[in-house]
Amino acid sequence: MIHPTQQKQFDTLKNAFAQNRLSHAYLLSGMAGLGKTNFAREFAAFLLCESNRSAGGSRRAMAREATISCTCRGCVLMRADNHPDFMLIKPEEKSRVIKIDQIREMCEKTAQTAHAGGYQVVIISPADSMPVQAANALLKTLEEPSGKIIIFLIDNQKSVLPPTIMSRCQKIFFSANQVDLRLHDNQLTLRDELLNHLEEIQSRRVNPILFNQAWLKIELENIFQKLILLCADLSRLQFANNMSLIINYDAHEKLSQMASKITPMALQKFIDKLLDKKLMTAKGINLNQQLCLEDMFIEWENVL
Ligand SMILES: [Zn+2]
Repeated sequence: MIHPTQQKQFDTLKNAFAQNRLSHAYLLSGMAGLGKTNFAREFAAFLLCESNRSAGGSRRAMAREATISCTCRGCVLMRADNHPDFMLIKPEEKSRVIKIDQIREMCEKTAQTAHAGGYQVVIISPADSMPVQAANALLKTLEEPSGKIIIFLIDNQKSVLPPTIMSRCQKIFFSANQVDLRLHDNQLTLRDELLNHLEEIQSRRVNPILFNQAWLKIELENIFQKLILLCADLSRLQFANNMSLIINYDAHEKLSQMASKITPMALQKFIDKLLDKKLMTAKGINLNQQLCLEDMFIEWENVL
């Protein structure tokens, strides 16, 4: 599903498809957590749906919104995460970077014709986790793309992508008030659970270290990302009580209440601590997840 506020970006791509002028590479830019990868995956699903096959069959392309109920081979394979013409390239487990071999493999694969005879779609997420060598390997494919290939580069705006890459991409921007919270993998459930736990600690209804043990199986960085976005919203609410600025808009009532119960100084202290820990995980430092989470929630109780 595309978030309604991202429909404009989606329509831009659909129009380009209908007019047969899709670019080979798109740079989706905006802060982390806005659902850019999900957006690209949705467009991939749209492109790989066999009832959208006839490019130039614009009326049909425009009519199809989602592929949730479609039973064509492309949609079935996409839903099973098994489409041979779709590739999601991300840092491999425990790694923080996309390896040059992952890029080379993708370049070799896309040099051949698509299995289904249509488009091949690649998402590189986040593109700023490519070291220079990997970016250079990608550059060749961007310079001389073969056949119907579309590459989405997910750019979390750390401004580290080489200009040679950026200049070859069409740019699509996402802003903080265009958030897709309805992500895959129960991301919203996790966000809600974390928010509830913070709120219960704040109102002294729960022991901070008694949290859902299922969180120990979730990537720590993902948990930090959610906590940081929540705290960033608390901070925004404290400084400008403007709902349109907040990311977790659907939870604004609870967030407003929480923001009023903590001083800006204490909140910043907690955010600094979160950023410290997140940086450690980003550097690949192995933290004991149980201790690390206990530590964070005790800290939250203490700053209050
Ligand atoms: Zn389909």
